[in-house]
Amino acid sequence: MSEDNNNNREYERYCYTCRRSESKAGPLLEMPGGICMCHDCMQKSMDTALQMTGGDLSQFMNPGMFGGMDPGMMGGIPFGAPDMGVPETEEPDDDEAGENESEESEEAPKKKKKKPQMGFSMMVTPEELQELMGQRPKRAKRNPEDLPKIDMKTIPAPHRICEMLSEYVVGQEQAKKAISVAVYNHYKRIANEDKDVEIEKSNMLMIGPTGSGKTFLVKTLARLLDVPLAIADATALTEAGYIGDDIESVVTKLLAAADNDVAKAERGIIFIDEIDKLARKRNATQRDVSGESVQQGLLKLLEGAEVEVPVGANSKNAMVPLETVNTKNILFICGGAFPDLDEIIKERLNEKSSMGFNSDLKDKYDKEKNILKYVETEDIRKFGMIPEFIGRLPIIFALNPMDKDMLIRVLKEPKNAIIRQYQKLLAMDEVELLFADDAYEAIAERALKKDTGARALRSIIEQFMLDIMFEIPKDPNIGRVTITRAYIEGTGGPVIELRG
Ligand code: ADP
Repeated sequence: MSEDNNNNREYERYCYTCRRSESKAGPLLEMPGGICMCHDCMQKSMDTALQMTGGDLSQFMNPGMFGGMDPGMMGGIPFGAPDMGVPETEEPDDDEAGENESEESEEAPKKKKKKPQMGFSMMVTPEELQELMGQRPKRAKRNPEDLPKIDMKTIPAPHRICEMLSEYVVGQEQAKKAISVAVYNHYKRIANEDKDVEIEKSNMLMIGPTGSGKTFLVKTLARLLDVPLAIADATALTEAGYIGDDIESVVTKLLAAADNDVAKAERGIIFIDEIDKLARKRNATQRDVSGESVQQGLLKLLEGAEVEVPVGANSKNAMVPLETVNTKNILFICGGAFPDLDEIIKERLNEKSSMGFNSDLKDKYDKEKNILKYVETEDIRKFGMIPEFIGRLPIIFALNPMDKDMLIRVLKEPKNAIIRQYQKLLAMDEVELLFADDAYEAIAERALKKDTGARALRSIIEQFMLDIMFEIPKDPNIGRVTITRAYIEGTGGPVIELRG
C-alpha cells in the first residue's frame, strides 16, 4: 500500500468492517486478499482480542496471520519494525536452523532475534501493547492483603451515625436507628479478621410509602460515610438475555460511582428501589423475566459473588474492558412501597389476636395507622417475595408515612431544607425571607393532598417562589418578605417590608 497508489485509484476503497469510505475513515490498512480495514476497526478488533485472551495475545499472533500487512500501520503501533523485532517462531530459518537453535533455546529461548519475515510477528509484549493502546483501565489489586484495612476508629458509632443522619432526615427514628446499627455492623464485619466467627451480612429491606425518605436516607448515609452509592430501579432489571438492564448492571453503576476504583466499589452501597415490583405475579402463566427471575438473579449478588462488569459502559457487549468486582462486602439496601402489605399484616395480626384465651377484638388493628412497623418476613413472603430473597435481607424496617406535622418539620428542620436554601439565595440580595406559621401548614396541607409524601413539597414551593425570586430583586428597597397562608392559597400576596 502506498500513497501513490491511493491517489491513482479510480474508486475509493472502503473499510471491510464498518463500510466507511477512505475519505471518511482515514487511511486504510491493506490486508491479504485485498481486504481493507480502517484504524478504528482495527483498534476495536485488537481490544476484543485482548479481552478474549485476558491479555495473552500470543494465541492470536500466529506468524503470517496478518501476513503482507504494511509494517508500522497497525494503529500506529510499530509492528514489524526491524529494530524492535523479537519474533518467536517455530519455522526453521534456512541458514540458522539446526545447531544454533539447540544451543540458544535452553539459555534464552525467547530472546532469539530474527530478521522480520514476510508476515506479522509479535514485536511487543501484550502489556506493552495494551499500554500503547492507552485504553486499559487500572486493574484492581486482587490481593486482599493489599487493600487498605478498615479502621474501626474511623467508623462512627451507631448513635453518632444516627445523630448525623438526624441533621438531614427528620423523624423516622426507628429507621435511622436500624440503619445506623446495620451499617456499623457491616463495617465491623469487613474489619473482622477472625475467620472462625464469620459475621453475617447486614443487607437491609426498607419499606415505606412514596416520599417517606427511603432514597434520601440512603443518599445521606452514603455521603456521611463517604462511600460510593449506586441507586438502581428494580423495575428496569430483567433476567440476562431479555430486553432491559441485566442484574449485574447494578454493580456497573457502583463501579462508575467509585470512579472505576474496584477496591472502593467493593465497600460501597447499592440501593435497589421499587423492589416490591419484583414480587411473584399471582396466576402467572408465562416465565416472569422481570419479577421472580430477577429476585433469583439477585440472590448471588446479595450474598457475595465475583461479577465481571464492563468499565465505562452499560453493556458487556460494548467493546470495553471488563473488571471483576466482588460483592461480598457491598452493602445492599432494597426499598419499596409494598402497597397493600398493610392488609396482609393486619390480617395476620387480627388472626393472632382473635385466637386463644387472651383473644382480643377481631378488628383491633384495623384502625392502627403505622401498621407497617409490625412487618415480619412472613408478610413479605405472602406479598410475593421468594423466601431465599428475604433470607438475604436480614434487616427489615419500615418508614412512617408522612403526616402534616412531619411535612412541616421537613420544611423547617433539615440542614439543607429547601426553605433554607431560598432564604440563603435571597440573603445574597440582602433580603430576609420569612414564613408565617400558617404558611407552613398551608404548604403541608397541599402536599398531603398530592399523596406523594415529602416529594410534593419541592414542587409546591418552587411554584410560588418563582414570582418572589423574579420580582424581589427588581426593587432594591425591599428588605423583608413574609410568605402567608393567603399567598400559598392564591387569595392574597406576601407581606413586603421596605428597608430601614
Ligand atoms: P422515597 O424514596 O421514599 O420515595 P425520597 O427519599 O425520594 O422518597 O424523598 C423525596 C424528597 O423528600 C427527598 O429528596 C427529601 O428532600 C424529602 N424527604 C423525604 N423524607 C424526608 C425526611 N424524613 N426528612 C427530610 N427530608 C425528607
